[in-house]
Amino acid sequence: MSALETLILTPKPSGIARAAETLSAGGLIALPTETVYGLGADARNDHAVARIFQAKGRPHFNPLIVHVASAQVAQRYVEWSDTAQQLSDAFWPGALTLVLPLRADAGLSPLVTADLPTLAIRVPAHPIAQALLETFDGPVAAPSANPSGKISPTTAQHVIDGLSGRIEGILDGGPCPVGVESTIVGLSGVPMLLRPGGVATEDIEAVLGAPLALRDKADPLTAPGQMLSHYAPGARVRLNATEVAEDEVLLGFGPVPCTLNLSETEDLVEAAANLFHHLHALDAMDPAGIAVSPIPMKGLGVAINDRLARAAAPRDA
Ligand code: AMP
Ligand code: MG
Repeated sequence: MSALETLILTPKPSGIARAAETLSAGGLIALPTETVYGLGADARNDHAVARIFQAKGRPHFNPLIVHVASAQVAQRYVEWSDTAQQLSDAFWPGALTLVLPLRADAGLSPLVTADLPTLAIRVPAHPIAQALLETFDGPVAAPSANPSGKISPTTAQHVIDGLSGRIEGILDGGPCPVGVESTIVGLSGVPMLLRPGGVATEDIEAVLGAPLALRDKADPLTAPGQMLSHYAPGARVRLNATEVAEDEVLLGFGPVPCTLNLSETEDLVEAAANLFHHLHALDAMDPAGIAVSPIPMKGLGVAINDRLARAAAPRDA
């Protein structure tokens, strides 16, 4: 991919407006939050979210946190609850992420949730993040703005060092005040601490009036990234297929005759954007098997192959 010119935007109204337009057009904008710099994309746009994984060089499609302007906006995307209201009243805007059941009509890219039925969502307190979310007027998926495996960025310079040439712009808001990631609390069952972070566990427990459950590392439902057969279609999945059996449908890649094509032009960002949509569509045809064309192990191909390997893993794994 040819290098992009990464604009450094000042957080004046003109810079915020430019950043919001860029997000609307499917671009990537790094933004300061009170925790760390996030790498933002329109959470409804499959192609834009796929580009987050490409820019970071992430080898897995792990679920991303969606940032919204207010608790009211959050309720468009998740099934709200009394506990969610209690915690959002106490800690939003702020460094607390809530994981709640995804609404059926949320309209977000399945890449955001890694196709899970739950969504991680947060209202950031940083005034620049707030201003951008209000101007953009939509949900922003934003993992930390660093290349995969590197330390989370707490200054615009860190972001430039890691991602210059891969993203459209950075809103420079100086150093992040908290400097650690958000605390993540799961609320799809008993309130559970999924990741410690910027809001102290004791403060959350004081509001709940009860201790938080701790994540059971052995339970795949609370550790989505680690789940082997994570999204498993009903049909058996066969990778690196160069021929198709009579009872199979073909998920193609490149110029091949097939049932559905991830990308005829072998564009890996397009393929990532289509991945979950096509798997669901093929599964709905109720075939005995889904054969998948070979996909190169480079760029986003690594994450695509990782997810397909999970879908192809034996069901009792
Ligand atoms: P980051 O965006 O880099 O701060 O990391 C996002 C974190 O949120 C990861 O640890 C994810 O596993 C976690 N996460 C995001 N969505 C979910 C979800 N639906 N269920 C559980 N954990 C989630
Ligand atoms: Mg990170």
